Amino acid sequence: MPQPDLSIDRITRSRRNVFASVRLDRLAEFRDDEAWVERALNSSKARFVPLWRNRSLLANSGDGQIAVYLEPGELDQPDAIQPPTLLGTDGKRYFFAVSINDGQQQRVLARHPEAQFIDLRLASVDMDTKHAGVLAYAKALLYWQYRHVFCGVCGSANRLESSGHKLICSNEECGRQSFPRIDPAIIVLVTQGDACLLGHNANWPPRRFSTLAGFVEPGESLEDAVVREVFEEAKVRLKSIRYVSSQPWPFPASAMCGFSAEADSRKCGPSDEMEAVRWFTTSELEDAITRDEIRLPPPVSIAFQLISDWYTQQCGEDLKSLLQQAGSWLSRKGIE
Ligand SMILES: [Zn+2]
Repeated sequence: MPQPDLSIDRITRSRRNVFASVRLDRLAEFRDDEAWVERALNSSKARFVPLWRNRSLLANSGDGQIAVYLEPGELDQPDAIQPPTLLGTDGKRYFFAVSINDGQQQRVLARHPEAQFIDLRLASVDMDTKHAGVLAYAKALLYWQYRHVFCGVCGSANRLESSGHKLICSNEECGRQSFPRIDPAIIVLVTQGDACLLGHNANWPPRRFSTLAGFVEPGESLEDAVVREVFEEAKVRLKSIRYVSSQPWPFPASAMCGFSAEADSRKCGPSDEMEAVRWFTTSELEDAITRDEIRLPPPVSIAFQLISDWYTQQCGEDLKSLLQQAGSWLSRKGIE
């Protein structure tokens, strides 16, 4: 079984994942300090991360998509759908997420003709990773706010508190508090000897093969979820499991936990979820990619990181270079 590189600790390993690569000081101690937040909002260091219809503002830099942040004065606050949500600071700027309406979107695009609002998942295929984590964080928080406009207990309107990190039911008799919801999910590269197991889900783009994944269910540990998902999806029994790394996955609201696992045998089969499952040695994977028989997930995913690490450990080569030669993401992006 290929072992994760233990010369780097888990924090470092997780930071290699694109959406976990930038870490802000979240300033949690200031979220309830209205005077401090007001000062930060009106400071020249304030930067707004706009989301319009759940899409992020990005511009093409030539080297890939980069995040576009708005400066103070660029947003008409009276039109804001929600008050800004404090994300944190990178030491130089205070970042706020803000949901904007159609009128604001028009004005933002008029000021930034080079930019456009794009689904982060699509943009991340060729995204400059420097600020991907900030965009993912903003998207996750605003999605939670959007999906919890009303109290889940009494149905009254919720109001935002703690700079956007808490919702409180406006019905004083109820007063239920709710906090950002995250759905944990596991993703796992299963290996057996010199081969790894990849599957194709009928709902995925044509020829996409990836690692197995699924949501953790109530009453289950992460490891239990790995064992169950792998058997449900591919009829494969595991004999050992190792945690590798994690990253936020705001599509729409997951924390993705990556594992590697070793199978008992190469006995496997398709399932309701996975239309096809196949074992690949590194040379079989190379052939399948070169012939455009299969397409791997984009590098922003833990799935790619797991497959890429395994590939390098097995044959010493770089999977990204192979895929770039084959044109797997950029030139073929149109059908992803
Ligand atoms: Zn309520």
